[in-house]
Amino acid sequence: MDFNLDENQQMYFDMVTKFVKNEISPFVLEWDKEHLFPWQTIKKAWELGILNLSIPESVKGYEVDVVSTTMIIRELSYGDTGISTSAMCNDLANTVIAQHGTDEQKEMFLKPFATKPILASFCLTEPNAGSDNSAMTTFIQKLDNGNYILNGAKCFITNASYASQFTVFCKVGKPSSQLMACVIVPAPHLLPEDLQGPITTSREIILPTGGKIILGKPEDKLGQRLSNTASVTLEDVIIEPHQIIGDRRRGFQYVIDVLDYARPMVAAIGVGLARRAFDVTVAYTRERKQFGQRICDLPVARNTLVQMWKKLELSELALMRAAVKVQDREEDRGIYASLAKNVGSEAALYCANEGLHLHGGYGFITEYEISKLVRDAHIIDIYEGVREVQDMIIGREIV
Ligand SMILES: Cc1cc2nc3c(=O)[nH]c(=O)nc-3n(C[C@H](O)[C@H](O)[C@H](O)COP(=O)(O)OP(=O)(O)OC[C@H]3O[C@@H](n4cnc5c(N)ncnc54)[C@H](O)[C@@H]3O)c2cc1C
Repeated sequence: MDFNLDENQQMYFDMVTKFVKNEISPFVLEWDKEHLFPWQTIKKAWELGILNLSIPESVKGYEVDVVSTTMIIRELSYGDTGISTSAMCNDLANTVIAQHGTDEQKEMFLKPFATKPILASFCLTEPNAGSDNSAMTTFIQKLDNGNYILNGAKCFITNASYASQFTVFCKVGKPSSQLMACVIVPAPHLLPEDLQGPITTSREIILPTGGKIILGKPEDKLGQRLSNTASVTLEDVIIEPHQIIGDRRRGFQYVIDVLDYARPMVAAIGVGLARRAFDVTVAYTRERKQFGQRICDLPVARNTLVQMWKKLELSELALMRAAVKVQDREEDRGIYASLAKNVGSEAALYCANEGLHLHGGYGFITEYEISKLVRDAHIIDIYEGVREVQDMIIGREIV
């Protein structure tokens, strides 16, 4: 494993760090207070070419390798993990098409992302099917004319209010079926310039091909307030056969494939946040003096910084290992993706919590970024599989 950045990676690194420094960091606390969805900033990221990284070159995408992708997401997360979650979500939704779609499906469902700054949603979770996604009840049923009809309700869906395309996992035939399919539901394209202001209410999309999508009111969240999260209800949505990705009985395998790809990305979100928490805490403890010394020179406080640094560096190693395994499609990539996800979220939580502690009372005041980082860190341990689910995967693999 080579830890040095190649020329292309260095170019991405420089570009993203400059973008974060100039376009994100100065504004995040204000945006967080307003619970704003910074779509214009995401649009700028699209213009820079740091969105839609998994889209194949054959349809004018960047087809960025997994190691570089995790590095880009890590650096974006150093600025804000809500923004990186939203940006990463396009790849989460689209990678199944890149992996299992036909050339025609890639042209139809992926190319628009290369030509317009539109957003996608990945719709797996349901109110009664979270960690156990096999309990989902959203389903497609075949009609006499060869089309299908899709009904069901998804919750906690990133980008939903602003999405122009929905990747939906659903049962086949009936809600209790053992078979799962993956269908793509394109909607009329929504661009930042189409809106007067942020979306704050629920909305309905009447689909030209039949049926409707109801997007719930954006969730009011503890953290990652710069990402958008809403429910997605699918009512009598007509699905034509070309909207089904791959084999309509292999959806469970496709979910695993997507999550193997996406878990290192969530790990990268954790590592980016952990690094930010570490840096703001080191800076603070260098300035603040108590007992006649800088906080960072008080031995016990110094030891807390050491523990934070160790967690951060180890999470970075786990991330690199997983990214290389996923990149090379090695057979044991799943266990390393789960390891990186757990270690990355643990580093984020640890560095944010201990960082807040080292800020003392100031850490509890919202004008200090560390308070936001603590709120943002919690979801990293939950979405794309809670810690216990990753442990289940690791446990299954090692025995
Ligand atoms: C901000 C945000 C964005 C999200 N974005 C998306 C998205 O874009 N698309 C999408 O499909 N979903 C998304 N999700 C959903 C997310 O992936 C789920 O919340 C997550 O998988 C957990 O499911 P759950 O909330 O139903 O918790 P549950 O499954 O009910 O779990 C609750 C708790 O029970 C325990 N538990 C669960 N299973 C086990 C087990 N096997 N062993 C031991 N303990 C266990 C854990 O402590 C767990 O935290 C998002 C969620 C949030 C909050």
